[in-house]
Amino acid sequence: MMPLADTLWIVDQAKTLGFDLCGVVRAEKFPELERTPEWLDRGYAGEMKYLADPRRSDPQSAMPGIRSAIVGLLNYNTTQPLSTNPALPIDDSNPSGWISRYAWGDDYHDVLRERLDALMESLRERFASPFEARAYVDTGPVQERVLAKYAGLGWLGKNTLLLNQMLGSFFFLGVILTTLDLEPTLGANELPPPDLCGSCRRCLDACPTQAFVEPYVMDARKCISYLTIELRGSIPEEFREAMGNHVFGCDICQDVCPWNRRAPIVTIPQFQPRVFPLLEEDRAGASLPSQDASLYLPSLEWLLGLTEADFKELFSGSPVKRTKWRGLIRNACVALGNSGVRPGIVALGRFHEILGRLAASEDQVLAESARWALSRIE
Ligand code: SF4
Ligand code: SF4
Repeated sequence: MMPLADTLWIVDQAKTLGFDLCGVVRAEKFPELERTPEWLDRGYAGEMKYLADPRRSDPQSAMPGIRSAIVGLLNYNTTQPLSTNPALPIDDSNPSGWISRYAWGDDYHDVLRERLDALMESLRERFASPFEARAYVDTGPVQERVLAKYAGLGWLGKNTLLLNQMLGSFFFLGVILTTLDLEPTLGANELPPPDLCGSCRRCLDACPTQAFVEPYVMDARKCISYLTIELRGSIPEEFREAMGNHVFGCDICQDVCPWNRRAPIVTIPQFQPRVFPLLEEDRAGASLPSQDASLYLPSLEWLLGLTEADFKELFSGSPVKRTKWRGLIRNACVALGNSGVRPGIVALGRFHEILGRLAASEDQVLAESARWALSRIE
């Protein structure tokens, strides 16, 4: 095994390259990974077939000759209020949607990948003997959260996310799997950080769709993140009302977590909400047009007016592209159906017009979602 000094150098180097925290862990089958097959058998992964990759349950099979994993953590928390803040600037005449905080800016895959690649380059410069290293952001056959826990970066909370006492949970994780035999950041007799959830159950009680089967276990099929991003068909009716104004992901079980109250703010420009200047002709007659379109509380009218070509152009390099144009429009229909707009609101006519057009779509998912929304705002 390589000396601890090498591990300490890697951690320092990762921070120099812009990671908030970094840890090193041996590639082992940790206890949490033993539970994955049962979670899958219960059907909790829904349509996310990639989660059934058996390599995700055993880091030893993630890469030939693997010995270690380097886990980098990058905070994405920005200054905008939480989705649960009662003082959010909500305008009843111009309903807005909620996009998950992590998706307001540039695609985190690209931001983290750049830093991981730089770290791999540093490893190549430092270690002369041949070794393999592969960098992954969400795309690898590993469970990053579990590796991060055993790298000493936090504990797995009742909301199933990694929590860190100083940073909360608004962060991304990236990993480098390597054949380098590195000394772990946690010593042989050191345990991972303790679970500080205690008797708290705020996340479990706040989840609008009751996606937690029990503390630490989520049925992803009920989670708004899954429903708005991963699910390709119609949103099941039983969850539509509970979806509220979510159009891409959900932050509620993080927003209510006490460990996020003092989560530090980052100034990384790539994570600030994207803003799209509206053209004068877009402003004319529309309801929002006093301001530019932002991914922080975007106007539903603006979202529903996007064509597929607009979507491709505006969401290039954004995490939102994952749900595709059809998914975003489907979600925006449901959000408008939940918006509570009532007769007397100036924009009602325009909402009817937009939804009417979508209700006539040949795409059955869009047509049905728009009809549902119309039935709720008439
Ligand atoms: S992201 Fe939202 S829907 Fe999903 S588990 Fe958390 S609170 Fe529930
Ligand atoms: S809200 Fe409470 S129970 Fe849930 S993850 Fe945070 S500390 Fe743990």
